[in-house]
Parts: sequence; structure tokens; C-alpha cells
Amino acid sequence: MFGCTHMRSDNTKYYEILGVSKSASQEELRKAYHNDARKKHPDKGGDPEKFKELSQAYEVLSDPEKREIYDEYGEDALKEGMGGASDSHSPFDIFEQIFGGGAFGGGASSRGRKQQGEDVIHSLKVSLEDLYNGTTKKLSLSRNVLCPKCKGKGSKSGKSGRCYGCQGTGMKVSTRQIAPGMIQQMQHPCPQCRGSGESISERDKCPQCKGKKVAHEKKVVELHVEKGMQNNQRIVFRGEADEAPDTIPGDVVFVLHQKEHPKFKRKFDDLYVEHSLSLTEALCGFQFSLTHLDGRQPLIKSNPGEIIKPDQYKAINDEGMPHHQRPFIKGRLFIHFNVVFPESGFLSPEKCRDLEAVLPRKPGKQPSDNEVDECEETTLHDVDMEEEMRRKEQQRQYETYDDEDDDDDEPTMPHRACNQQ
Ligand SMILES: [Zn+2]
Ligand SMILES: [Zn+2]
Repeated sequence: MFGCTHMRSDNTKYYEILGVSKSASQEELRKAYHNDARKKHPDKGGDPEKFKELSQAYEVLSDPEKREIYDEYGEDALKEGMGGASDSHSPFDIFEQIFGGGAFGGGASSRGRKQQGEDVIHSLKVSLEDLYNGTTKKLSLSRNVLCPKCKGKGSKSGKSGRCYGCQGTGMKVSTRQIAPGMIQQMQHPCPQCRGSGESISERDKCPQCKGKKVAHEKKVVELHVEKGMQNNQRIVFRGEADEAPDTIPGDVVFVLHQKEHPKFKRKFDDLYVEHSLSLTEALCGFQFSLTHLDGRQPLIKSNPGEIIKPDQYKAINDEGMPHHQRPFIKGRLFIHFNVVFPESGFLSPEKCRDLEAVLPRKPGKQPSDNEVDECEETTLHDVDMEEEMRRKEQQRQYETYDDEDDDDDEPTMPHRACNQQ
């Protein structure tokens, strides 16, 4: 897995992949990997190559021996088998080791690794105006922090004794006989210390947290909703989730949810708005002002001589949403036009003749009076097409049902009648 020839053989690439400095501590590395790995995991739609790269970088840097070789000689040295690169794991093994339950046993825990705390995810409703203009929201978070009095030790002396129940291992082994001569051994967390391996005497317990090691804290955070942020975008407060002893706190994550806007629809950096024109405006020109998301009222008007057709779109440059992190670049504002025609009966025969004189001539050859006399007369009726389609669908379902379940002739069914013709 170190055989990719296009990789540079310097000794900074792995640090860049993880986005940490060369002097990063094991904890920082772990945190960086933890944050990135979940996003880049192929199961979450990440690129498998990127995920592999990330895992590779973490695998080398998290191993002090390999990291030393890498810092000194670069990636090639590891490729050549120094430092036992031959026992490299699949990226998924590393992932499981970090995230999977129970994978902290054995060698891993002997190096004193800290557990990763859970992330806390909140949903935050924002208006389109907020996303257009940017805003700051103050939110109150409550979380557990290490008790400030005992610094998370739980005791006055800062010491804790070994739990008698488990001799400090945090685990207890119980045995039971499952068959004559066969004994099963089972391991489970020690009930006395709840797996911590420690016990604090009543007298030594921290008076503030009563030995619980954590305290409750309320904190107000300022959430900066930046111009042009997208729906579902995440704002992350690194390490602001619950603190617990021997645990790296998880992140507090706010996921933005854009509320529906009564007027504007958004697609990426573009805005869409519906506008109805009267037939006269559509034919002879129009102008109107639109209250924008920042309160401005841009004037929107047709070009001279321009005719707008029903269902037509027009666009105005730079009146869309600001682009996130480059808010001076804006998308487009699309206007979708509806044209409202006058009702039947609006035009008298005289007015029709006046209009005909102005509007384009009727197309094609008109039938002569003689020809009209020879044609059959018809009448146009109003229809509600949605209702028609609904009725057709119902009829189709009824007929299918009939075909499946009833082979007797039923002359009342319309399709039977048709078949007989
Ligand atoms: Zn115990
Ligand atoms: Zn305390």
C-alpha cells in the first residue's frame, strides 16, 4: 500500500493530509484523524483513495517508531521496509480501532490512549435573509466539564485508590460451568467502580462534585452564520461537547436548516422568484420593484419592444445569493413570468376588430363561407384536466381489477363493449 509512485518522498505530506503541524501531539493527530475519517469514510460517500491516504498518514504518524523514520527519511524509507511498514493495516482496520467498540483493548490501552467523546449535533433554523446578509446568533449550551475544584480527579488529594473489586483493572472475570468439565470465562466491567478501576474514599471525595469528577456548565456561544452559507452546512465548535476524565471531548455541531421563504426560492447561489404580468404588460412592457433580502428595492423593467411569453424566465446578474467566503461574488436572480389573460367576454366584437388590426394576422387560409357550410359543427367545452386524469386513472384501476378477478362477461364494462365492436 506504500507502492504509489506518484507520491512525493518528502516528510511533510502526512502532516498536510491530517492538517496538523509537524510538532503535533498524539492527541492532536488522533483528533485530526477522528474528525476527518468519518467525513471521508467511503460509507459516508467519501473518496476511497482519500480515505486510504488519511488512514495511511495516521497509521504512520501515530506510531512513534514509524513517525521517527518518516520525519528523518520520508515516506520512501517506510516503503523500503524500515520500521516494519510490512505490517500496515487496511484503512478500515484503523477506522475500526478508533471508532469501533471494544477495540481499545490490548496494546492500544497500554499506551494510555484517551477515548473520543461523542459529538453533539443541533439543528438550527435560519431564514434566507440570514443566509443572504449573514448574522450572529447567541446560543446557550449546557455541557459537562471536568470539575474545576478537583480538575476531574474526583478527590481532594488528587489521588485515587485502586478499586478492591477489580484490583484496578476495571474489569472482572467471572466463571461458570456450562457443562461438566467445561468452564466458561466471562469478562465484564467491575460494578464497584463502573469500569474505572479506581475508588475514592468517602473522606477524600471532592466536596464540589462528590467524586463524580464532572460538573455542569452553561455557556453562551456566538454562532456566526456567514453570508452565502448553504442549507445543511455544518458549523463546528471543536471539542465543545461534554468533558469526561480520560476523554477527548467531541464537537458541538450546528447544522443549518433554511426556512422556506414566501417569495424567493434558492438553488445554490441563484435565487428564483415568480412574477405575474397582465397581458398588456407582457405585450407593451412593464416595470416593477422587488423588495430584496437585504431590503433594497431594485427596479425590474422590460427592454424596449420586448414581449414576455407565459412561462418565460429572465435573469438578472449579481442579484442572487452571495457566494460563501467570497460574498462579493453573487449568483443570478431568475424571474419566472406568468401572464394573466383577460377573462372571456372582455372583448366586444368591435374591440376584437380593433385588436385584429394591430395584432399579427390570423395564420393560414381561412375557410370560405361555402366551405364552412359543408363542415359539421362542433362545440368546445370547458374541462378540468386534473379531474379528467383522475377519473381515467380510477377507471384503469377498476378495469385491471376486473381483468384479474372476473372472467365472466360483463357487457356493462366499457372495455368489453369496445372489444366486441
Ligand atoms: Zn473496580
Ligand atoms: Zn470535584
